[in-house]
Amino acid sequence: MNHDSGFRIHDSNHHSQITDHRSSRISYLSCMKLIPIIADSWRMDGGVAFGVIPKSLWQRYYPVDENNTIPIVSRCLLIDDGERRILIDTGMGRKQDKRYYSFKYLSEEFDLVSSLASAGYEPSDITDVLFTHLHDDHVGGAVYRDADGRLMLQFPCARHWVSSAQWKWALNPNKREGASYLPENLQPLKDIIILIDEPGDFTDEIRLAFHSGHTMGQIVPTIQKNDATIVYCGDFIPSAAHIHVPFIASVDIQPLLAMEEKEVFLEMAQELGYVLFFEHDAVNEAGRVELTEKGYRLADPLVIGDR
Ligand SMILES: [Zn+2]
Repeated sequence: MNHDSGFRIHDSNHHSQITDHRSSRISYLSCMKLIPIIADSWRMDGGVAFGVIPKSLWQRYYPVDENNTIPIVSRCLLIDDGERRILIDTGMGRKQDKRYYSFKYLSEEFDLVSSLASAGYEPSDITDVLFTHLHDDHVGGAVYRDADGRLMLQFPCARHWVSSAQWKWALNPNKREGASYLPENLQPLKDIIILIDEPGDFTDEIRLAFHSGHTMGQIVPTIQKNDATIVYCGDFIPSAAHIHVPFIASVDIQPLLAMEEKEVFLEMAQELGYVLFFEHDAVNEAGRVELTEKGYRLADPLVIGDR
């Protein structure tokens, strides 16, 4: 479904898209629908998000408030190819206590199930849940507590997928990541999780890459739609500001590897005109990359157009 009725031109640079003049909304010719689903709107400490980069620098590229917190969303992606309805990531869920959500400065503006409903989907419609990794703000929405306090799967009809490297890593967490791997998120998945050993094809249109700078075996899915290549960047490149190669979150377990992985990827993304989809960017949903004399930057902010 596409609600915009604005004047459209054919964009000669990227001929798989139809560009709406007013909003830079892109839509595609294939019947596959890509639907961004916002599960959470929250805030994070700016130092956590940008690591060793001084605030005087990163604040030119990302909004910040007087408490040094930055607006963040958990932007999942629903891929409806007509047969399967694949949800990438699930946000942080709502089963934790008040203290947990106060640390996340969670607003009540969005939640996963309501956002799915607004897009016309019930939890039982989801056939697959693909986790980029199992940190709490990516997996928490897959499990809820029922009225009796039991942990239940939010998507009972779905197959749940993660990389085997990430699953093993999450079950024996190191002291640094331990607070992000919550037993109540992982335990209900134990008997049903399907492990992906190698990068490669997930469906005819979705290819999975693995990156381990942020955490071991993070999955970065690439979706092919007609001539357009859309990359779900997860915590690999969480916001458009993180296109700057040295902008690495302080939570990344292997920052040097994260920079290396990003540089190799950005070269390809710039050359081939990939559309990067940002999971955590509260301002920019997606965009292409350009190489300037100062390095890689966001070229054109875009909105994925199949709501
Ligand atoms: Zn993460």
